[in-house]
Amino acid sequence: MEGTEVMVEDMLDVGSETVAIELSKPEADGWEITPGQFVQVGASVGDSFVARHYTVSSPYPDGSFEITVGVDPEGELSPVLADLDEGDYVSVDGPFGRAYYEDEEDVVVLAGGPGVGPAVGIGERVAVEHGAENVAVVYKDDKPAHAERLGTLDDEGATVEILEADSPLGTAVADTVGEASQVFVYGFNGFVKEATEALEKAGYDGEPKVENFGPDPPTDG
Ligand SMILES: Cc1cc2nc3c(=O)[nH]c(=O)nc-3n(C[C@H](O)[C@H](O)[C@H](O)COP(=O)(O)OP(=O)(O)OC[C@H]3O[C@@H](n4cnc5c(N)ncnc54)[C@H](O)[C@@H]3O)c2cc1C
Repeated sequence: MEGTEVMVEDMLDVGSETVAIELSKPEADGWEITPGQFVQVGASVGDSFVARHYTVSSPYPDGSFEITVGVDPEGELSPVLADLDEGDYVSVDGPFGRAYYEDEEDVVVLAGGPGVGPAVGIGERVAVEHGAENVAVVYKDDKPAHAERLGTLDDEGATVEILEADSPLGTAVADTVGEASQVFVYGFNGFVKEATEALEKAGYDGEPKVENFGPDPPTDG
């Protein structure tokens, strides 16, 4: 599948080594993306073309859409994306993914690292459609990003729990997941495994929507 060239409309630092990139919408007729879905973003890295997946982090990705990129300093593409400027172009393919928001009324989003992108996107969408009290975000990261948007959700009445990377998820998951909740899980392998186990232990018998970002990036130090 060929990607479409889209323009970078805005670049925003949203945390330590985390950037939010606003991309113009591909011009293809009827192109739409829903919070929780992802695109394949490609750009030139030296002499090569490198493409990776990134999940949409805007609540209403209508005229343009945002992705949130956690920069892996050892990685090929994410440092290049973090260096983009407004007016640059990248290639976008998709949307892809089945773990996306489908107007559920009561959601819990478990996010590890850059999984915070879909967490704020879905959280803000539910807050508008159904009220912030129906949103819980449990987010695990040593260097949390999107503090402003998470703070606003919290102020509006959402439950927002931010855990350090070495804190277990179990208690926060047990405290937030109710019977009616639709649970979403976004993050790398280790986080997805821990979140899935915590949900089982908490007795959650729904079907969580899970997007696994792949192998864990190296940790500092
Ligand atoms: C469905 C999906 C959705 C995703 N959504 C997001 C998102 O919203 N935001 C986000 O930030 N990320 C997301 N990701 C992750 C993203 O696609 C990239 O994997 C991430 O940005 C790293 O890409 P990179 O090119 O910078 O690093 P890569 O070049 O892929 O390298 C990653 C790490 O692996 C190491 N490495 C590479 N090759 C080897 C090797 N042979 N042996 C050992 N180590 C190696 C590198 O040193 C580096 O530390 C998603 C992934 C998937 C699958």
